[in-house]
Parts: sequence; structure tokens; C-alpha cells
Amino acid sequence: MTYDLNGKRVWVAGHRGMVGSAVVRRLASEGCEVITAGRETADLMRQSEVEAFMADAKPDAIVMAAAKVGGILANDTRPAEFLYENLMIEANIVAAAHANDVEKFLFLGSSCIYPKLADQPIAEGSLLTGPLEPTNEWYAIAKIAGIKLAQAYRKQYGRDYISAMPTNLYGPGDNFDLTSSHVMPAIIRKAHEAKVSGASSITVWGTGTPRREFLHADDCADALVFLLKTYSGHEHVNVGSGDDLTILDLTKLVCKVVGFEGEIVHDLSKPDGTPRKLMSADNLRGMGWGPRIALGEGIAETYQWFLQREAAREA
Ligand code: GDP
Repeated sequence: MTYDLNGKRVWVAGHRGMVGSAVVRRLASEGCEVITAGRETADLMRQSEVEAFMADAKPDAIVMAAAKVGGILANDTRPAEFLYENLMIEANIVAAAHANDVEKFLFLGSSCIYPKLADQPIAEGSLLTGPLEPTNEWYAIAKIAGIKLAQAYRKQYGRDYISAMPTNLYGPGDNFDLTSSHVMPAIIRKAHEAKVSGASSITVWGTGTPRREFLHADDCADALVFLLKTYSGHEHVNVGSGDDLTILDLTKLVCKVVGFEGEIVHDLSKPDGTPRKLMSADNLRGMGWGPRIALGEGIAETYQWFLQREAAREA
């Protein structure tokens, strides 16, 4: 172990999001104190508010799960928000972490940081070896800057700041808004609504041929806590399941879990995005970590969460 969490104050930035809330749940079984800050306490895009919060809360460690996130259409149509907001949030937090002697900082990126046509499975060393996928390059550039910030503070000041690159995540707490969500919650919602309304088909975006890798948010949180405790290095670490499938196969699996038996129709006016982004899981596996939640099981659990949330909204 390189970092002992016992007795430490750990700030989970972005604790209301899918990943942040999973990290808070996971940290409950560690001997540390979890600190959170809602938007009313600190707007993370405002440097002075981040500085004041950090000076007051004095965290020993930070998990940086706060980010402006969204699916392919949101990224493609709101580039300014995705670039500007992510740059501001990460720059404010890293600088304030250093100023307040935060011992350990874990930055979270995304698999979209890699070149569009990177060799598959994508090893960490592929970063910055080719052009990015245009639909999400704004988000990717911001996340690459975040990795570089962590590396720069390590190089110049000897800080133990590290980065993890999770693959496409899903699970309880995901965003199910069809205009801004990622594919998994969108398909769950579409299949559910078609089943309930008795519709004969659901429509998925693009050709259905792109391949994507998925990891449950609770598996991701477990990997992040593992890295927090055991990893100290310059290079970012991929966090994935090591398996991928086509969007069409994902849709079929979701339909089976949800119980929708109709047709699958393709909307070819919507983008496919990058053809494939399976990350190499070798590095993290070599350190001794692997995922536990199988895809079908995770989808079933996420669907139950969605149903409960819908029922609570209607009540
Ligand atoms: P990406 O991994 O950055 O491309 O983000 P997404 O999760 O939004 O999209 C993954 C793939 O799923 C893309 O090829 C989309 O075109 C496809 N897809 C199919 N149907 C949907 C949908 O209803 N919503 C979203 N967001 N993507 C969809």
C-alpha cells in the first residue's frame, strides 16, 4: 500500500453524480472521513469559492469526480460548455489542492482521450499519438489537460497526484435524459417506454455497428479506491472491463433484460462516433484489480433503479 486512507479526510468532488456517489458508497467501508460540497457550498467553476472551501475543509485526499459530462449529441452540440467548464473545474481543484498541501489527488478522465483510430485494445501509451474523435474532442482535450495538470504538479512539486481513465460507465444515478445521456441509459429508457406503451419498435442512433466497452459505476468506484491506496505514478491508468460489444448487441441485451420484444430501428441521421474504443485492462489487472459485476446483472440492477426512480416521481 502506498497511501493509507485510515483517519484521512477525503473530499469526493462531484458526489451527486453517478461516479461520485458510487465512490462515496465505496469509501464508507474504509476508515476515512468523506467530505462533500454541494453547489451551494462551492461552485467548482469559481476559483475563489474552491480556494475558500479547500482552506476550510482541509482534505487530505481528493477524488475528482466532478465534471461536465454527456453523451455523443450533447458533446457534439455544446462544445464550449464541455471544454470551458471541465478546464475550469479541474484547474481550480488541482491548484487549490497543491496550495493546501493535499497529499493525494485522483483525477478522472475518460476513454475518449485516446486517438479515434488507436490500436485496440488501447494501451495508456496511445495518448497523444493521433487525431481525436471529432464528436467529443472538446471534452477529450479538457480531460487530457487534467492528466497533464496532475503530471505537472508531480513533476514540479513532487505531489502524489494520479489519474485514472474509466471506460463508458453505467449504473444507478445515471442520466436518463434522452437528449444528453449516454447510450446505456437511453436504450434502457427507450426499451422500457416502448414496452409500457406497446410500441412495435425502438429507434437507436447510428448504424449500431460501433463497439463500446461498459463498466458498472460500483466496479469503477472500487478500482478508484484501489488506485488511491496502491498507485503512485506519472502515467494515467485505464479502468475498464476488458470486453466490448456492438451497440446493436447492447440494444438486444437491454431489450431482453427489460422485456421488450419489438423491432430495433436505426436513425442514420445521428452520429456513430468513434468505431471502437476498447481499452487495454492489462495494467490494472497486473496490479491485482478486476471487475465483479457482469453486464447483464448490472443492466438489470440499473433498470430496477430506473423503475424505482420513475415510481418515486409519479408518487
Ligand atoms: P460515445 O461513447 O462518446 O460515442 O457516447 P454515447 O454513449 O452517447 O454513444 C455511444 C454509441 O451509441 C454511439 O455510436 C451512438 O450513436 C450510439 N447510440 C445509439 N442509440 C443511442 C441513444 O439513444 N443515445 C446515445 N447517447 N447514443 C446512442
